[in-house]
Amino acid sequence: MYNPQSLKAEEFIDHDEIMDTLAYSEQHKNDITLIRQILEKAKERKGLSHKEASVLLMCEDPDLNQEIYALAEQIKKDFYGNRIVIFAPLYLSNYCVNGCVYCPYHTANHHMPRKKLTQEEVRREVIALQDMGHKRLAIEAGEDPVNNPIEYILECIDTIYSVHHKNGDIRRVNVNIAATTVDNYRKLRDAGIGTYILFQETYHKESYEKLHPTGPKHDYAYHTEAMDRAMEGGIDDVGLGVLFGLELYRYEFAGLLMHAEHLEAVHGVGPHTISVPRIRHADDIDASAFDNGIDDDTFAKIVACIRIAVPYTGMIVSTRESQACREKVLHLGISQISGGSKTSVGGYYEAEPEDARSEQFDVNDNRTLDEVVRWLMEMDYIPSFCTACYRAGRTGDRFMSLCKSGQIQNCCHPNALMTLKEYLEDYAAPETAALGSALIEKELDNIPNLKVRGIVNDYLREIHSGKRDFRF
Ligand code: SF4
Ligand code: SF4
Repeated sequence: MYNPQSLKAEEFIDHDEIMDTLAYSEQHKNDITLIRQILEKAKERKGLSHKEASVLLMCEDPDLNQEIYALAEQIKKDFYGNRIVIFAPLYLSNYCVNGCVYCPYHTANHHMPRKKLTQEEVRREVIALQDMGHKRLAIEAGEDPVNNPIEYILECIDTIYSVHHKNGDIRRVNVNIAATTVDNYRKLRDAGIGTYILFQETYHKESYEKLHPTGPKHDYAYHTEAMDRAMEGGIDDVGLGVLFGLELYRYEFAGLLMHAEHLEAVHGVGPHTISVPRIRHADDIDASAFDNGIDDDTFAKIVACIRIAVPYTGMIVSTRESQACREKVLHLGISQISGGSKTSVGGYYEAEPEDARSEQFDVNDNRTLDEVVRWLMEMDYIPSFCTACYRAGRTGDRFMSLCKSGQIQNCCHPNALMTLKEYLEDYAAPETAALGSALIEKELDNIPNLKVRGIVNDYLREIHSGKRDFRF
């Protein structure tokens, strides 16, 4: 029985409820009256249920689809303005005991070199990332209790936060590691992590079990209930995601939103972020062998419908996507992107040798961070290196209430300008710096509160004279 308040995976992600939702959305995909009603409700900016959002996703009427895109764009502007937060992944280890069939780190891949960064190597990678301008990382590691125990992850987090090279700083470490115990989540919370991210991969239990034939990740319930354990361990901000291409995208879309509804129902706070990765080629993984791949238009529709369904949840698109595709979805609802990423274990400090490569997937957007920053500004976005919220204690429901009321913008926008200023002072190429200075000048006028505008102006001057890390 479907029950969003249940703590059992198969009850809050109930297969029959998803199948009913798919049938309902198929039946109503041309029901103009119903779609208009759903759009009217969505305009209140309080979100939609998985069923309502699924009808929008299936809508075939071209005019209504234009309205869906326009509303997604407007909601994006209202909640997130024009800032885009930037981060980079840092792969710590590709040792893994699982058998995931879509990932080259699976245990049966015997030709891929297995690597695990030493603390000295973590330091080198972090310095290289700081020298690019990054302030926010997402750490990644395979699941291996012997090679990557929680103590190793905690030690790496400590090392990352301890490195301060020149004006560099990593101010927020998000963590993407395997589902674990409440105790371990508590340890991660105590280590000062930002968001705990865990992709569901697929919500379809039967497919999930086939795609994860061996290893602890095979246990669908343990994996699906991980976010509840993370929250029980005191982690306020969790990030959901599925790997589009493994199962029917409509099934995953409904599952994702049901998971968000479950977190809201049980913990009073929905997901902090949702990621929308699509399967990519990698080492021994052939993406075309998966039957459920989606094209760019469908991908854009998914992004728009997620934006409308959960307006207050950040949405992340990585360098799995090309520049062109990222351009297509940024305005529809994306709030965070990665830039200058390496998806190998090591690789920021020095390139891996050709014969010992360890990428988890082929990067589709190979531009440098500076090129990404410049590209964003050329499209009138403000690249933001902000990490303020969790450092100011704005997490979980405290964060969500600010977000739902739209007030978070009063922090995001000034913080974006100040962290961009730091980037321009310390790392930008001359052309990027010139573009950025003009953008900051222009965007200062968009801070409505004159007192705040004055404070930001003062802080910008202080940043220019060498001080760092101002925030609202
Ligand atoms: S997806 Fe994660 S758990 Fe699965 S093989 Fe890759 S690293 Fe291991
Ligand atoms: S103020 Fe908070 S929500 Fe806004 S960009 Fe910074 S960390 Fe994110």
